[in-house]
Amino acid sequence: MRDVYELRDELERTAAGMGAVAFGVADLSGPALRGTGAPSPFAERFSRGVVLGMRLQRAVLDDLAERPTPLYLHHYRQTNYQLDRAAWTVADALQRAGSAALAVPASQLVQRDPQRGHLSHRRLGWAAGIGFIGRSTLLVHPRYGAQMRYVSVLTDAPLPAGIPVAGDCGSCRACLEACPARAIGERAEDFNREACCARLNEFSRLPFIGQHICGLCVKACLFDGSRR
Ligand code: SF4
Ligand code: SF4
Repeated sequence: MRDVYELRDELERTAAGMGAVAFGVADLSGPALRGTGAPSPFAERFSRGVVLGMRLQRAVLDDLAERPTPLYLHHYRQTNYQLDRAAWTVADALQRAGSAALAVPASQLVQRDPQRGHLSHRRLGWAAGIGFIGRSTLLVHPRYGAQMRYVSVLTDAPLPAGIPVAGDCGSCRACLEACPARAIGERAEDFNREACCARLNEFSRLPFIGQHICGLCVKACLFDGSRR
């Protein structure tokens, strides 16, 4: 087995070379994730979740006003594609180093109503110390806010893991004002998932969209500490 610190550094460099601006490792059995249901059903096979984050492009977000645009749809898909490529490469590097590794798709539904993916990349990102969970329930990066997308690679390599960082939205309420469904409340626990889903259903019926996307709370969240 390779030195795990060296291996972690190599994975971070690989991810950065493919466009990731955020990188972290979550301990899947650690106290941060215990009792959260994440990342079940994989926790028995894997001990770590490597989380990669890529930044959404500002010019695409600038075009969003009251609804998603075809440009945003394309950018959302392309970012997921780039994330999946980076996750595949990181998983391949782990496998070549002798470890089991599973690249979890950036965006793939395995349940409808309520919608659910394989696991919550943002929850793993929080456990890895990449950012904090904001009022919008999105993962808020200290530099890029919620204008990011994430992917995870699960592995049995005992990589050094991060811990959740302290942080909160402070006095910022930008996403509350931006949300057309009024789904966002004072605390992440107040998030109204049904109201958000109903609006995403509406948006998915717009011409040239056809997918449950929005982007308005993402656009609003450029948290940089100056709003505190
Ligand atoms: S995705 Fe859209 S509807 Fe849902 S919380 Fe964000 S802004 Fe509101
Ligand atoms: S927009 Fe402001 S209130 Fe909303 S999640 Fe981001 S930092 Fe928090």
